[in-house]
Parts: sequence; C-alpha cells; structure tokens
Amino acid sequence: MKFNGKNVLITGASKGIGAQIAKTLAEYGLKVWINYRSKPELAENVKEIIESAGGKAAIIKFDATNEEDFIASLKVIVESDGKLDYLVNNAGITNDKLALRMSIDDFQSVIDANLKSCFIGCREALKLMSKQRFGSVVNIASIIGERGNMGQSNYAASKGGMIAMSKSFAYEGAPRNVRFNCVTPGFIQSDMTNDLKPEVIENYTKSIPLARLGEAEDVAQAVAFLLSDGASYITGEVLKVNGGLYM
Ligand code: NAP
Repeated sequence: MKFNGKNVLITGASKGIGAQIAKTLAEYGLKVWINYRSKPELAENVKEIIESAGGKAAIIKFDATNEEDFIASLKVIVESDGKLDYLVNNAGITNDKLALRMSIDDFQSVIDANLKSCFIGCREALKLMSKQRFGSVVNIASIIGERGNMGQSNYAASKGGMIAMSKSFAYEGAPRNVRFNCVTPGFIQSDMTNDLKPEVIENYTKSIPLARLGEAEDVAQAVAFLLSDGASYITGEVLKVNGGLYM
C-alpha cells in the first residue's frame, strides 16, 4: 500500500486503537494528524514514536463532539497541508448499564461521543473531499453495532447508527469519488476492554473461532486497506475484524 504525499486525520488517536492506526498509517507513508481530547502527553508520545521511525505527524486538540471545534480544526489542517485526503472517525466511549437502569443522559452521552462526532466528521470531510474529487473515510464502528449486547443498548445504537449512516454517506460521496466504509472490531485489547473482569474476557475468548483477542494492529491494517487505492471500488462496506466471533 502506497500513500506517499497524502494526509489523514484520526480522531481519538492518543491511545488504544486510534494510536495504533496513527502509527500504522505513518509507516505506510501518510502524514498523520493525531487528534486528542484530554491528555497531551499521550498524543506527544504517539508523535514521537512516529517521528523517531521516520514518519510525519502533527497533533491537533479538539473534542470530536463539538461541531465548532471539529470544523475549526479541519480548517487548521487544510491551511497547513492544503487538503485532507483521509479521515478515520475513531473517537468513542462506552457507558454500560442494563437498559432498565439506563438514564437518558447515559444513553445520550454515548450517542453524542460515537455517532454525533462521526456525523460531524463525515459531513465536513465530504465537503472538503468533494471539492478535490478524492477522499476516503473509515468509521470505527463495532461488532456490538451488528449484533447488540447485554448492557450496551446505548453503544449498540451508536455503532449500528454509524454503520447505516456510513452507507448513506457512501451514496452521497460516490458521485464525487469520496468513499465511506466501516471497520467493525470485535474484542480488541485496549483500555476499553481492560476494564472488563478476567472471567468475562476468558468467556469471550472461548467463543472466538481464532481463539485470541484482537490487537489494535489487526484493526489498523484493515483501516489502511479501506483507505488505500487498493479499495478504490469499495464503498458503503463493513469490514469485520473479529476473529470470526460474528460472521
Ligand atoms: P480507548 O482506548 O478508550 O480510546 C478511545 C479514544 O477516543 C481516546 O483517545 C479518547 O480520548 C478518545 N475520545 C473519546 N471521546 C472523544 C471525543 N469526544 N473527542 C476526541 N477524542 C475522544 O478505546 P479503544 O478501545 O481504542 O476504541 C477506539 C474505537 O474503537 C472506539 O470508537 C471504540 O468504540 C471502537 N471499538 C473498540 C473495541 C475494543 O474492543 N477495544 C471494539 C470495537 C470497537 P480521551 O482519553 O482524551 O477521552
């Protein structure tokens, strides 16, 4: 995969899956914009790792749920590089509770962090990429958006919404050569899954045909493919990265 001369913004790239996506895409020759919200030292660390390996990186702070900040940050990127070639909407949260105990605030917080931020990113990317008649967006949804899960009605709604929304954007972007796809990770080792009890992790692992948890790198490679020209005839697609947990 060759991306020389191209740039990408990855939301929530200071740690976990987003940080790995940034490192992998930089290895493929992309200039990566590392978005973070709350911990500059983590974003700096990702930037240093990329630069010490000879890659190009820049840091941009904004809360992806804040429309004004997101738009202003894209302006900064375009002023710096003259364009935005690729976007990865990765920022996301969980706030798990059984539905019977879930308040509207619990529900809305996850919809805002995952679905609303993704909508803002897709809409603004489509505006920019339409003008240049080139671009590709990958949205990090989840296996939970495909099959639901106990205690995750808010998260499932947000991620299922991302999948359906990406397909709608794919229709709108296609005439302008702008592609929208989703990656749906299964059970990936990260801070999000480290909070789970060991017995929950063990039970999940037993039900994964490839018999291991996924790694952030597994997700990053799928993202790189969907962004690349090798996927230039693929839009509106959902690429599962789940070890066979949900086929
Ligand atoms: P993580 O380690 O908790 O990292 C999430 C990242 O998103 C953090 O850098 C966080 O930054 C950022 N973020 C959250 N809300 C944000 C906002 N409003 N604006 C900007 N950044 C924000 O989670 P992860 O496991 O890497 O997950 C990354 C993505 O993959 C998420 O969308 C998640 O739903 C999805 N996913 C994960 C798994 C899994 O098994 N881990 C499975 C399926 C899908 P702060 O620390 O500053 O808040």
